[in-house]
Amino acid sequence: MTIDLNADQRTTTTTSTGTPVAHALRGLLGGRVHLPGDPGYDAARLPWNVAVDQRPAAVAQPRTAAEVATVVRVAAAAGLRVAPQSTGHNAGPLAAQGLDDVVVLRTSELSSAVADPARGIVRVEGGALWEPAVDAAAAHGQAVLHGSSPDVGIAGYSLGGGIGWYARKHGLAANSITAVEIVVADGTLVRADAHTNPELFWAVRGGGGSFGVVTALEFRMFDIATAYAGIMMWSLTEIEPVLREWAAWAPSAPDDVTTSFRAMRLPDMPDLPEFLRGQELVVIDGAVLGSDERGAELLGGLRALRPMLDTFARVPAKELVRLHMDPEGGAPFASDSSMLGSFPDAAVDAFIAEAGPDARTSLLMAELRQLGGALGRAPEGAGALARLDGEFVSFAGGIAATPEMGAQAYADAARLTAALAPFANGGAYLNFAENPVDSRTAYDAGVWRQLTGIRSAVDPDGVFAANHPVPRLFEDGRPTS
Ligand SMILES: Cc1cc2nc3c(=O)[nH]c(=O)nc-3n(C[C@H](O)[C@H](O)[C@H](O)COP(=O)(O)OP(=O)(O)OC[C@H]3O[C@@H](n4cnc5c(N)ncnc54)[C@H](O)[C@@H]3O)c2cc1C
Repeated sequence: MTIDLNADQRTTTTTSTGTPVAHALRGLLGGRVHLPGDPGYDAARLPWNVAVDQRPAAVAQPRTAAEVATVVRVAAAAGLRVAPQSTGHNAGPLAAQGLDDVVVLRTSELSSAVADPARGIVRVEGGALWEPAVDAAAAHGQAVLHGSSPDVGIAGYSLGGGIGWYARKHGLAANSITAVEIVVADGTLVRADAHTNPELFWAVRGGGGSFGVVTALEFRMFDIATAYAGIMMWSLTEIEPVLREWAAWAPSAPDDVTTSFRAMRLPDMPDLPEFLRGQELVVIDGAVLGSDERGAELLGGLRALRPMLDTFARVPAKELVRLHMDPEGGAPFASDSSMLGSFPDAAVDAFIAEAGPDARTSLLMAELRQLGGALGRAPEGAGALARLDGEFVSFAGGIAATPEMGAQAYADAARLTAALAPFANGGAYLNFAENPVDSRTAYDAGVWRQLTGIRSAVDPDGVFAANHPVPRLFEDGRPTS
């Protein structure tokens, strides 16, 4: 393992008008490098979560893996750090670290997605979004382990774990990755798979963006052309029987089904379909991998509670990428999340007190995702995040159109987390952690030691800045950034 003893002496020169090195980068990439003070800087630095005010030393938008390597080499040589960012869905914890000495490397120009049915994989570039990969797989009657949103970046989602509608059957997206191509700290582009650089391959599958800039990923397709999927809706006033039924059923439901439960207070906004505007609702959505009869049987208990809308039916798999109706193109949001080891009746009461019809809250949504099934088991040859411990993960948040609204939404989300704390298992699901957290809590102690060792070896000078960093180790075992 390489140990960095001089990490705290690294040069971190920057000025509000950009460092000489940032100017040098502009010489190499032209108009695709944006410095503070440039007319294009504010648009270039804007992340998907537009409430996050990230102000890096520069934003670089390379078009090729070779250009990614150039950015890393030039920035590292001058003591600047590099933060790979696909979309900025999870920009909050990165911005909170302070970005004065950081080049945000926006991978959005690296966006292709191509299915290779002969190899049973989809190959995407490092900035690709989920929708094109879903479409590429669907053209061959196949599906990939996407999440609830079509415009989340595949790299950030998959490197952080990745829970989607097939998760209880097929596990985390991270463990469907078969290879990555990644620019490491010395600017070399390397391939990592089960046979080549296997330690790096293990680390990126769940260890996040601390190890380099991923310029391409390959991941498995699954033989799924259709699913029994949809949405059930009730008025929020019906939350108690519905949450009790769902929370009792979900932990021991078969692996074929993956669902989510949300208490929602929708704003009266013209972007929403009219029947949803200003409504307070309970929403359960998800997918069953099996016959219609099997789906009807599994969801029978919820149907007996007479939802006012029930769209569960056989649908093409590609439609699942918009099932959850996530906002697209960017939104101001503040949130909090926790991992729940169990969800007994007292947890139902606590959830309803904070998010039910009588709660005084700014939360747009308070969500529970159903874990268990394959998510709870480590598959053969898994990466650093082999499985998730817990029955549910909670994610709650609200609109942060102003800093005051953001503070209120975060406070309300944190209050829900606190109310559910007796049922939390102390872990974290880093993809849903949109504030700085202790990344250690997401891994077993042995996995964490191995991750910090690999980071120290592949990035001894701390070139990469990640939203949820895996630190390097000093010789005495103390971690650094
Ligand atoms: C609307 C919405 C819906 C979501 N739905 C789901 C869901 O269904 N399931 C789920 O598991 N999560 C979900 N998430 C969480 C999502 O997975 C995380 O926000 C994830 O980090 C987003 O990845 P990104 O690349 O789009 O974001 P970014 O903010 O661009 O990236 C996050 C981090 O990933 C790393 N990273 C990104 N790109 C690269 C790269 N090319 N090379 C190396 N490192 C990189 C970096 O460390 C970066 O800081 C959702 C989030 C939102 C806002």
